[in-house]
Amino acid sequence: MLTVLNAVKLSEDYLNNKRIKSPRINAEILLASILHCKRLDLYLKFDRPLKESERLKYREFISRRAKHEPLQYIVGNVEFFGLELKVSPSVLIPRSETELLVEKIVEQYKDSIALNILDIGTGSGNISIALAKNIPGARVTSIDISDEALDIAKENAMNNEVSDSIEFYKLDILNGSINSLNHKFDLIVSNPPYVNKTDYKDLESEISEFEPDIAVTDFDDGLKFYKRIGQVSKDLLNKNGKLFVEIAQGQADEVTEIFTINNFVDIKVLKDYADIDRIVLGELQ
Ligand code: GLN
Repeated sequence: MLTVLNAVKLSEDYLNNKRIKSPRINAEILLASILHCKRLDLYLKFDRPLKESERLKYREFISRRAKHEPLQYIVGNVEFFGLELKVSPSVLIPRSETELLVEKIVEQYKDSIALNILDIGTGSGNISIALAKNIPGARVTSIDISDEALDIAKENAMNNEVSDSIEFYKLDILNGSINSLNHKFDLIVSNPPYVNKTDYKDLESEISEFEPDIAVTDFDDGLKFYKRIGQVSKDLLNKNGKLFVEIAQGQADEVTEIFTINNFVDIKVLKDYADIDRIVLGELQ
């Protein structure tokens, strides 16, 4: 009989041979998701035998992880800013750097009344949902080019009880007409696909083989979305409206320049927890 402890140990060795980092934790998280318990609670039932169905499911999960599929796609969800969100291979897996972007916005706007927010490239809806949850009275418009992403974002909004505060639209910000967004905003936020085409080739397989390419790279210089967002923000923001974007390492100067060209003032660059420039914000003059 395969017990919880033995199953974890065998899987740890297997993942280790397949060069998965932190194999023990990976093995534990996958089994905990099958047994619907917390990772550390596995050890309260370490000698419990696995049922046949659990064993088969675990084998499937471990073999997917061994092929470098991200954990979050296998278990199907992720925690973001204290919220549980569903994810699938149609959406980028929300990152902790993006939690910082949300935190900075919440800090500035938590007491504002009837704030109108536009989230460009909403993906799983993580930014929109976290803002709607934490800024009372905020009205969020969330756009994305992908129908599949919008479906997941809507489901996440419903599960987190903010559907009434968010409107979702399909829109390709690079080529679509922004006239369909028929009102102005106080705040625009975006975590656009910012990896340039050269760096994209060198990304780890977890990202390049499994996450949607259109969510990660602009297949260009990495700045295409900032140029477009800077330009359209002039028409979409109210006077003194603000723009917050997440950036890749090394893009701070170029993105600051894009903000300047488009009449933004009071431009700030904020660092993430690893001391890397990660957020650029500015106010429309
Ligand atoms: N807004 C989502 C996020 O921040 C998706 C971003 C994207 O797909 N580039 O994770």
